[in-house]
Amino acid sequence: MTVLLRVDREHPAPEPIARAAAVIRAGGLVAFPTETVYGLGANALDSDAVARIFRAKERPTFDPLIVHLVAAESLREVVSHVPDVAVALAARFWPGPLTLVLPRGPQVPLAVTAGGDTVAVRVPSHPVAHALLAAARVPIAAPSANRFGRVSPTCAEHVLADLNDRIDMVLDGGSTQVGVESTVLSLAGPVATILRPGGVSREALARVLGEVQVAQELPTEGDSLISPGTTLKHYAPRAVVLLYRGELVPVLERMRHDLSQHLARGEKVGLLLVDEDSPAFAEFPVTTARLGSVDSLEEVAQQLYGALRILDQAGVSVIMVRDLGSEGLGLAIRDRLTRAAAGQVIVVAEGTA
Ligand code: AMP
Ligand code: MG
Repeated sequence: MTVLLRVDREHPAPEPIARAAAVIRAGGLVAFPTETVYGLGANALDSDAVARIFRAKERPTFDPLIVHLVAAESLREVVSHVPDVAVALAARFWPGPLTLVLPRGPQVPLAVTAGGDTVAVRVPSHPVAHALLAAARVPIAAPSANRFGRVSPTCAEHVLADLNDRIDMVLDGGSTQVGVESTVLSLAGPVATILRPGGVSREALARVLGEVQVAQELPTEGDSLISPGTTLKHYAPRAVVLLYRGELVPVLERMRHDLSQHLARGEKVGLLLVDEDSPAFAEFPVTTARLGSVDSLEEVAQQLYGALRILDQAGVSVIMVRDLGSEGLGLAIRDRLTRAAAGQVIVVAEGTA
């Protein structure tokens, strides 16, 4: 049985946090909110506990985990070398949705790093995550708390939908703020490289680093896996996702055209829509999930995974959505939608990329 404990997101009470910390220290699994998505946590220094994460998620063992720390001062417990650039980035972005890939410290079991000699680390800002890390007094390895390949959970209900009875406990701290996963930045090579776009934008990183590379700006079929685990089909709902990319007017026109055809074939179609696009689809008998205003990609990111799950629950067989550019959080949104679409990107016109 999975125990569900509600906690206040801003001021989590000590009692449920202490219970969750005891589960972690005993080698168990606790799902907890971070500012990005819910994580599935285990003691990062206990390889048996870490193995349980992989079993619960049905995650392939080649996909390494992110280690969460209570503060940057704990870095030396898990990495063998802290370069100056990591210190600068930590000072600017921690606690927050930035994961740094650094040389693995000898204490970290190879199960965490998928056998590799680097380890991914971050300090989450969510008060519940922080309280749990402080009470557990061990680093916590935590991938997203979903079955492997599925949409990441942004609330406790999503966690239970995927992992009920497979994990010991869920701390329910409500909906997460950022809504997409952390940015994974490798500092293991000569140039800092974004392995996975996420909650901290490329532009924000460039302001600190000057130079920052993006390993895979747009994942495509057959790409070699630069960051293990960033497989093309990922973050995927059950329905087929069609992602439209190009200039706004022709994209909306093409979506309307394709939508009519799907409906004519008797398919049940779901639309993931920003508010501004709603009028263009008002006359169609479809299920829509709203993402908020295109002017607030923060809001879109926050709504994204919940909206995908809503459409899945509505039983649609096709989900149509348009690309929102690559600025700021747009890059992370594009990345997740491209993976949800398993590479089915319909490029309508040049210009907005
Ligand atoms: P998740 O915590 O489920 O969002 O996934 C963690 C992701 O971080 C993995 O799928 C990898 O893409 C990335 N990651 C974790 N550890 C490493 C590492 N040592 N090197 C490169 N990427 C990593
Ligand atoms: Mg994940």
